[in-house]
Amino acid sequence: MATKSVAKEAQEIGLASEMIELGARLQVLQAETSLSYDRLARLYREVKGCSPPKGMLPFSVDWFMTWLPNIHSSLFYSIYQYMVAHTPCDKSQALVEAYRLYLEQSAAGRVETVPDDEPVLSFTRAWMLLRFFDSGLLQLSQCERCKGGFVAHAHDPEAGFICAICRPPPRAGKTRASKARSGRKAEPSPKQAQPASEPVRAPRRAQTASKRQLEPDEPVQVD
Ligand SMILES: [Zn+2]
Repeated sequence: MATKSVAKEAQEIGLASEMIELGARLQVLQAETSLSYDRLARLYREVKGCSPPKGMLPFSVDWFMTWLPNIHSSLFYSIYQYMVAHTPCDKSQALVEAYRLYLEQSAAGRVETVPDDEPVLSFTRAWMLLRFFDSGLLQLSQCERCKGGFVAHAHDPEAGFICAICRPPPRAGKTRASKARSGRKAEPSPKQAQPASEPVRAPRRAQTASKRQLEPDEPVQVD
């Protein structure tokens, strides 16, 4: 502790404050900085004016496969990759900057902005997404039609992959109104999100069956 650089600590506090403002949970801050839990909890209260939320992080990989989260996650991840490749940002800073850009882009084109409207992809989910990529659970698959890169399960065959924008599920238009109020609640279960007519999705279901049991934790409020 005695040799800890003051400048480094200041930098970490700055980073943690930015992340808290964007909605990061304490677990994220603990992973991204070397600050103690107590200091982070205090910082959280100072920045947010309330205690940090308790409970587990949302850890379902399948959440990123449902159509709307998939589009948002793919947008975020593409920005993140660009930041890492083309800017001097380190990974933590790239996450913050990419998430800011994602918020800007996902709000663009909306008819009206509800003040407390939560983004489809929360900061904590965005962070989880990067961890899933790092641990080899996810890959970016190229859509055959639009050539865009979209988040997919690792080792899914890319041949014949069509993204959720090129082939939206039939109910895509119907949920748009309710989406404005609560993106997450409007989300159907992954089972509904993958119509039987999509051959690419089918073989994976068996592999992820064990992970799906974890989903009772899904409704945990993220931020
Ligand atoms: Zn496409």
